[in-house]
Amino acid sequence: MKLSVFGTGYVGLVSGACFAELGHEVICVDIDEEKIEGLRNGVMPIYEDGLKEIVDRNYANGNLKFTTLPAEGVTESDIIFIAVGTPSDNEGGADLSAVEAVVESIAENINDYKIVVDKSTVPVGTGDWVEEMIEEQKEADYEFDVVSCPEFLREGTAVDDTMNPDRVVIGTESEKAAEVMDELHQDFEAPILHTDRYSAEIIKYAANAFLATKISFINEIANICERTGGNVQEVAKGIGSDHRISDKFLRAGVGFGGACFPKDTKAIVSTAAEHGYDFKIVDSTVEVNEAQKKTLVNKLRQEMSDLEDKKIAVLGLSFKPNTDDMREAPSRTVVKQLLDDGAEVKAYDPVAMEEAEKIFGDSIEYSEDAYDAIDDTEAVILVTEWDEFQNLDLDRVKELLNNSLFIDGRNCYEPEKMKEQGFTYYSVGRKAIN
Ligand code: NAD
Repeated sequence: MKLSVFGTGYVGLVSGACFAELGHEVICVDIDEEKIEGLRNGVMPIYEDGLKEIVDRNYANGNLKFTTLPAEGVTESDIIFIAVGTPSDNEGGADLSAVEAVVESIAENINDYKIVVDKSTVPVGTGDWVEEMIEEQKEADYEFDVVSCPEFLREGTAVDDTMNPDRVVIGTESEKAAEVMDELHQDFEAPILHTDRYSAEIIKYAANAFLATKISFINEIANICERTGGNVQEVAKGIGSDHRISDKFLRAGVGFGGACFPKDTKAIVSTAAEHGYDFKIVDSTVEVNEAQKKTLVNKLRQEMSDLEDKKIAVLGLSFKPNTDDMREAPSRTVVKQLLDDGAEVKAYDPVAMEEAEKIFGDSIEYSEDAYDAIDDTEAVILVTEWDEFQNLDLDRVKELLNNSLFIDGRNCYEPEKMKEQGFTYYSVGRKAIN
């Protein structure tokens, strides 16, 4: 089949590359010339395991093309995917300006029947709006259908998630479009769920809001454990072994971040408010998460009353391991709190250093590795649970630290072991060792 994908970010590039790998002809369109030029030369704009191999292979065999020309994407494809960003607007809703720009290009260049598939996360009713815009603006009288096909991939495992999805949601009332979409997804061993377009649009927000709520829930249980005794990991195991609950997304930590949960939770609260409904649970999920991101530095302040001119090591900057994405990363709150308190920050992340530099500039020091970051500092704050931070040589850490203070935002170490090693050790939802 002939497809185009507008937006070559995490969703667009990975989906486009995977469809090409399955034998379809895919044109990826982006307004970012540097990104497109890079992709033509084998430079990936994001870090995702296995992505480069697939992109290189399919670019070489001609299944995958890259362009900055929207007209090319529209005219040379039968199915047009919209996979551009939908960041938060000033009121917490979704900013649809990039979607609008793509839709205008489709209307301007429509040259045959097209299926317009929205993969971007957009508020319920956006499909109607897209349909009306194309209908009003189209410059040639061709038919088209608008389908909602939300994306559920996770950064860090995006290629695998795309190739092996839990389900594919196809939201449309057009039988013709549904048939084509079924055929397009026939190589995936995943159940296909057919819904109306509104339901498909809501499914995406409901899924993210639910998962985010699970995280905030266990973080609140952790906060209770810290005050009452009890170990949140044992509590999580105890409740997670109930199949109705499941043990996924029950890891207490420093809060959620990334390109999706923060904006999608705010957006569904905002959509609800626009329709006169106060979505209290998800509103609280957001509030709890904001507070959770601050708990690590609050623990540090408990031990060190004055952080002025103190050097603090921050391990892990990306919002989760195996990605360089720093959008809404909890590390941003941690670093800001430290700098506001006058501390000097030495940071290290295995892949997000370049992204971090764009955000923090020269306000922090960038280290060569974890040990270089820890050297000559007063305390370590572990923010992102990269594998290499879960197996640190603790003797060496102890030797390099001026003070033996270790704040573990992801429960990577066992309190008893840290006690034996002589650390003052704080984690999340477990007894502090001090
Ligand atoms: P991204 O920011 O990584 O990429 C978006 C891309 O769109 C950028 O390369 C940008 O240059 C391009 N773009 C902007 N305007 C354009 C235009 N008019 N024409 C062509 N390209 C244009 O975004 P992302 O993380 O891939 O997310 C895309 C959508 O998918 C969002 O709605 C997001 O909520 C949703 N989503 C993201 C994830 C994720 O894990 N990142 C998962 C599921 C769903």
